[in-house]
Amino acid sequence: QLEHAFPLKRISLLAAIIVWLAQALLDLRFVDDSLRDAMLAIRLAVLALLLVSAVLVLRSRRTSLLAPLTMACMLALGVGSAAIVALAHYVDPAYPEEGLLLICMANFFLAGQRLPEALVCSLSVLLAYSGFELWVGNDLVNLLYGILYLLFGILIGAVGCYQLEYKSREQFLSRRQLKLLADCDSLTGLYNRRSLRQQFERLWRQSRREELPLAMLLCDVDHFKAYNDHYGHQAGDEVLQRIAELLRDAARRPLDMPVRMGGEEFALLLYGSDLADAAETAERLRESLVHLALEHAQSQTAAVVTLSIGVACIHTGEAPLEELYAKADQALYRAKAEGRNRVVKAVEKPLPVDHETA
Ligand code: GH3
Ligand code: MG
Ligand code: MG
Repeated sequence: QLEHAFPLKRISLLAAIIVWLAQALLDLRFVDDSLRDAMLAIRLAVLALLLVSAVLVLRSRRTSLLAPLTMACMLALGVGSAAIVALAHYVDPAYPEEGLLLICMANFFLAGQRLPEALVCSLSVLLAYSGFELWVGNDLVNLLYGILYLLFGILIGAVGCYQLEYKSREQFLSRRQLKLLADCDSLTGLYNRRSLRQQFERLWRQSRREELPLAMLLCDVDHFKAYNDHYGHQAGDEVLQRIAELLRDAARRPLDMPVRMGGEEFALLLYGSDLADAAETAERLRESLVHLALEHAQSQTAAVVTLSIGVACIHTGEAPLEELYAKADQALYRAKAEGRNRVVKAVEKPLPVDHETA
């Protein structure tokens, strides 16, 4: 949200500077001579702060600066205006004080502040206004009316700001939730094929920049149809969830991606792994499923649920996802053909053919 706030902050600052200058011109024209110097000094001090902030916001993209700078500007505008109003009332009780209410509204709705910050700034305006008026010794009845209007204005601002903030949080969360639903498989929580396709582009470009290899493990549960037929679909789903956990554990580095490709087929994308590393990871994954010892009475391969895994790798500059997937798929096909429950590496082009087997 802060990153998107720069344009709004620029507009707010420009508006603040213009209004502040316009008021200064009116003051110069209409306010009593005896107050002019003090008022101008306050106006200049606040203007200087606004200009410095404008330069900082225009030149830097540092979001950490935004909230404190905005608060400083809004506090300076509020306290400065309160001082000017109190000074002016000393000579002319009819001097307008509506500007204070406007600053409170700007705190809530224009300056892009969060509710607590806007509340602190607005209550500071109220405090400064009361303090200065009492200090200068102005009319108490006028002050009470002024406080009442400001308090009510702050209440309206706070309620409105709370509702806006609530809506924007809600929107943020539902956008997140939609993205999660679109990117993840609902049974296992792993990434789905769609999000592999989307993220692969980015990972592939990054791996090219860093000159690192990308490897893919393609895993298929052995005799899973028979498992479903014998133990039921629900038990089958639970097996898929257990395998998904193993894949999540195997995806140890932040850029590794465990994926459910569909049905009982999974993939694990390993960032920065070469073929040998990836084959080791695949072997550990295969063994960890055997150690889980999920009974599979109908398997022709073993007494437990097992995985066949094809492993492939692309080095920098080679073709993207389709080629990696095709190579891993061929290796998986051979793992099935050679008896299942095993890891088979894809043929690496420069290597002789007898390097392929697990
Ligand atoms: P192979 O060893 O050759 O891989 O044999 P297989 O039986 O595992 O392969 P096949 O492709 O014939 O069967 C896949 C089965 O996976 C069919 C289907 O019942 C099951 N399956 C696919 N998706 C799901 C799912 O979401 N939940 C469950 N429980 N089963 C699924
Ligand atoms: Mg299959
Ligand atoms: Mg299968």
